[in-house]
Amino acid sequence: MSEEKQSFQAEVRQLLDIVIHSLYTDKEIFVRELVSNASDALEKLKVTQLTENHIYQAERESQIEITTDEEAKTLTIADTGIGMTREELVQNLGTIAHSGTKSFLKNLQEKGSQGGGMIGQFGVGFYSVFMVAEKVNVFTHSWQVDAPGLCWTSDGREGYTITEADADRGAKIVIHLKEEFAQFAKEYSIKDLITKYSNFVPFPILLNGERVNQIEAIWLKDKKDCTPEQYEEFYRFTAKAWDKPRFTMHFTSDAPLDIHALLFLPEENPERFGFGPTQPGVSLYCKRVMIDPNPEGLLPEWLRFLRGVIDSADLPLNISRESMQDSALVKKLGSVVTKRLLKFLEKQAVDDPEAYRNFYAGFSRYLKEGIVSSHEHREALSSLLRFESSLQDEGSLSSFDDYISRMKEGQKEIYYLAGSARSVIESGPYIEAFKARGIEVAYFTESVDTFVFDSLSEYKEKKFVRADQSDIELEDHALDGDSLSEEETSSLSTWWQDAMPDSVKEVKSGKRLIGSPVVALVPEDAPNAQMRAMMKAMGQEAPEIKPILEINPRHALVKKLSALREKDPEVATLVARQLCDQALLSAGLVEHPQEMAVRMNAILEKLL
Ligand code: ADP
Repeated sequence: MSEEKQSFQAEVRQLLDIVIHSLYTDKEIFVRELVSNASDALEKLKVTQLTENHIYQAERESQIEITTDEEAKTLTIADTGIGMTREELVQNLGTIAHSGTKSFLKNLQEKGSQGGGMIGQFGVGFYSVFMVAEKVNVFTHSWQVDAPGLCWTSDGREGYTITEADADRGAKIVIHLKEEFAQFAKEYSIKDLITKYSNFVPFPILLNGERVNQIEAIWLKDKKDCTPEQYEEFYRFTAKAWDKPRFTMHFTSDAPLDIHALLFLPEENPERFGFGPTQPGVSLYCKRVMIDPNPEGLLPEWLRFLRGVIDSADLPLNISRESMQDSALVKKLGSVVTKRLLKFLEKQAVDDPEAYRNFYAGFSRYLKEGIVSSHEHREALSSLLRFESSLQDEGSLSSFDDYISRMKEGQKEIYYLAGSARSVIESGPYIEAFKARGIEVAYFTESVDTFVFDSLSEYKEKKFVRADQSDIELEDHALDGDSLSEEETSSLSTWWQDAMPDSVKEVKSGKRLIGSPVVALVPEDAPNAQMRAMMKAMGQEAPEIKPILEINPRHALVKKLSALREKDPEVATLVARQLCDQALLSAGLVEHPQEMAVRMNAILEKLL
């Protein structure tokens, strides 16, 4: 039969123009595109074999054979798949069938070139070969016994020819490389690309006669058919790790999206030695073919310690890196997987608290980072937090749900304090009032915790309240001992405030104190000691703080001071200031402790 010259459909020419000039920055992905076409063709053959008795060259094994020829600058990718008839060649490699691509092109025409970044979302697969090829031959024979062998040839410009030719069943794509892309005719560079993108293609891939893909796509298998050893082996491969996975999460879903995910939480926190942020390590696949080894914008940043694979048949294979970040589909995928992961962790915490505790010790920072960085998973992340508390023994950890279950009747708030250690918090002035009333206070001892509570305002409709805040109304408590009268207390407060107008906002009496004479409370809108320390560490000036002094009218020191101010106003003023500074000191708010020593000497001198 004679040669047929045919023009590409106008849209194809347009598409080729874009593909060649602007589509992908990564030229190498054409290998992935052709290998996945080959894999699809083999898959389709399998399906055809189920219903058809007569298959051309039925004995040929299902495989993909790749050959490189450096001298001729050719790369050949051949499969033993379903092949194409003449009509199919014209239809598949000469027109654009995808309606999405068509409307995209229309859009592009209307808007000029701005849409270039979007094009990766549409099917351009086969045509990507023209980024690197000056000429392409496709030798093909359909599975149908009476179809002819054919050769399709094109330079990717105006059109193509189809001639009859010797061809085996399947398709053999011979790529004549452009001079500047001759590297794709080197065996090692193709080998790298196959291991990078196509290692899990379910058919043997032979490169110059040798099998190159080894690993089975175990994430697509049923969970019950996978052994822990297989998971471990795959983890080490995919994470390039030597340890074992700490937790393995393997799940499949078909709604709202088709997802096969196999995710690993490593044993070791990769950032534990302060090496800086680790690279995200969950690869994105579409039907066993890798789309991106570390896709940005798929999972939230704080999950960068995760390893593994997410495979979704709903993704367009040709999605480009540029378009991925904006893709609503990718966002949805990431969000669904994140939710599943958080649920998984919650279940681990219940099923094996010890294992969860160990995980938490190494990875709590990532969870906290998640809380601070976005709203989306805040509540689920908060329920994963663990802390010690005033009513629990040292070393025992609780969750907010535990806390809520122990709340006193009528208690509406979750009280907490942040400090560098349990002992520091407990030696501070704020706990005693809560202890005396049997109200639990959660302790947070990591430096990031202040930021966490900056972003968190409530959990399951219970407001978080810092226990050192000035506006807390604690329920009345039966108080022991004689007290100054209300009048005496109020006049002492006024005098006290006048004695030190610059350093306190207000002096008032309160019921929260049991064993201390005075406590310094931080106004609700002011940064507390931990926040101030953080600001300083970051080189920021912490704003001046004027605490509210709450005095204990039942305390002997306060009662004596009330009497002293009549007798010896000078010493009384010194003592008032000293008590105030001591309260600030235990609140971690003293800026100039030297002054205290000088004043103490003055007091001693007067009294001795
Ligand atoms: P897509 O794979 O997204 O459909 P392509 O441009 O890569 O888009 O391919 C277009 C069509 O050409 C495919 O749908 C398929 O029908 C056909 N095709 C491509 N490669 C092969 C092959 N190796 N064997 C058989 N058919 C193929």
